[in-house]
Amino acid sequence: MKYYIIFGPPGAGKGTQSVLLAEKYSLTHISTGELLRKEIESKSELGLKVKAIIENGRLVDDETILVLLNKVVSESLNGNKGYILDGYPRTIPQAEALDRILEAKGQKVSAVISLEIDEEVIFQRIALRAQMEERKDDMDRATIENRIVQYHKKTEPLISYYKESGRYFQVDGNKSIDDNFKDICDIIDKIK
Ligand code: ADP
Repeated sequence: MKYYIIFGPPGAGKGTQSVLLAEKYSLTHISTGELLRKEIESKSELGLKVKAIIENGRLVDDETILVLLNKVVSESLNGNKGYILDGYPRTIPQAEALDRILEAKGQKVSAVISLEIDEEVIFQRIALRAQMEERKDDMDRATIENRIVQYHKKTEPLISYYKESGRYFQVDGNKSIDDNFKDICDIIDKIK
């Protein structure tokens, strides 16, 4: 099984690239953000708990994310060659938990693909997405800024965590969707 992590700040294009990668390499796409939004939509207990947190641009606590993740990873689909993790892990404790989960299965993270993107491009892309999708956390500048702050504080430390293991690969996320996809596929094909 392959376990790819797609990494980057909000608006980097992780979701878009994950969908393309899942299709090309027969991977199951797991987006914790999408899973959380579904919980909110269905007004489940978990959804009610995380709604305000997400709409403020903060991170959901690690324990809740783990519960959510365990629910989906156990339902493996037929023909599945692995997973593309989008928006997870987002903190060091989440990365450590993931390593433990995979180790118990005799597996490990295959690669972390990081989309590097300029801050002004983040705002442009999120503004564009806000016009097409109804995401409350995309509507308000202060919320977006908060998400970027959280990214720098809690998520960016993962870069050195994964660099140490030699499984960290960077691509220039400022390019077009097609060019980004090509760059990511080149990395995956090289390390397969
Ligand atoms: P983006 O990365 O573009 O902001 P996501 O859909 O990945 O969008 O995430 C939206 C929100 O969901 C995040 O701002 C955060 O509040 C919450 N979230 C998603 N994944 C996680 C996670 N692994 N840990 C904590 N919170 C998360």
